[in-house]
Amino acid sequence: MIGEEILFECLKCGNCLFYCPVYNVEKEETYSPRGRLSLIEILNEEDLPLLRKNFLQECLLCGACEKNCTGNLKITDIFIANRAKFKKDSPAIKKIALKFFTKGFLNLYKHLFMFVKYVPLSTLPKFNLRFKKINKKLINKVVLFPGCVGNYLITEIKDSAIYVLNLLGYEVITPNFNCCGFPFLSGGDLEQFEALKEENSEILNQYKDLPVITLCPTGNHTLKEYYGFNNIFEFAEFLNKEENYNKVLEKIGEIEDKVSIHIPCHYINFFEEPQYLRKSLSNIKGIEVFEPERQMCCGFGGMFSISYPKVSNKILEKSINNLRAKEGRKVVTNCPGCLVQLSRKSKAYHLSIYLAEKLQEKNP
Ligand code: SF4
Ligand code: SF4
Repeated sequence: MIGEEILFECLKCGNCLFYCPVYNVEKEETYSPRGRLSLIEILNEEDLPLLRKNFLQECLLCGACEKNCTGNLKITDIFIANRAKFKKDSPAIKKIALKFFTKGFLNLYKHLFMFVKYVPLSTLPKFNLRFKKINKKLINKVVLFPGCVGNYLITEIKDSAIYVLNLLGYEVITPNFNCCGFPFLSGGDLEQFEALKEENSEILNQYKDLPVITLCPTGNHTLKEYYGFNNIFEFAEFLNKEENYNKVLEKIGEIEDKVSIHIPCHYINFFEEPQYLRKSLSNIKGIEVFEPERQMCCGFGGMFSISYPKVSNKILEKSINNLRAKEGRKVVTNCPGCLVQLSRKSKAYHLSIYLAEKLQEKNP
């Protein structure tokens, strides 16, 4: 069960250290997966006046340590359970942000704070897309789970996905989903997470015979791992599973462009086949696709970026260099959160927006 205490035995081998984005910029054992696990053990035995109580929070829950753990520990679940247990140690800004993380507020957020510098997310990217009605018979139905950023903050992500799916002949159903709840899970508020899970599961059960497409790997991971639903597809995965994608490629034709691929942590660390983003781009004729030898976290991590902006920024800087974004390459990702973060330092796109833009250029 989520939040339940998990017994673990860390081998202290240190294999995870190399993969941890926070440790890689902080270079302190406290901020390594191994260090956090050791501190959790101590914290659970005695109430130590820890100097750095935020060691549990200053972590992106990216899953890189878990994927590379010699002892096969479910590290992110251990962290989530202990965040819930020591919730009072959450940074104040995170506690406040979670209070406002509601559908109604997110709807207003973009319009209220778009021009106010220093307000988190005030640098949201803008795209110039005009969606025409597609005169095509829509045969099959799919359900769209856009996620909070795609639904409220960068709505072009959702609109572009609908446009591409319509072109493939899919009627897209967009029920009134709420947040998947991962921000609350990550903030240790299990009660609120369970409430959102119940609300969304009720809607998902109404459509259980249809494929559900998510535009956010974190949402996808949450619906599968923590809700227990199966018929859930990430957008790039769904496009590549359908032979219809060839029709999109035909319509795009040949393009001259240089892009870098940013594979999100929750995609690369929790999906069995994270190659779909790469395939969606490299199958386009004429495009020059660069993929770094080793993908690096962008440093967003949801509430992490507002709770620890300096560390988040240091991680972002490394990621931008790794993607060669400063050489004028566009960065394409399939995570709305990574898009928010990468847009601070580069021209970045969500895959749905990139495809929709190219399709519109070719078929004005
Ligand atoms: S989840 Fe990511 S940030 Fe957190 S300890 Fe593991 S590798 Fe580091
Ligand atoms: S790789 Fe796993 S077992 Fe080894 S130190 Fe890291 S958390 Fe412990």
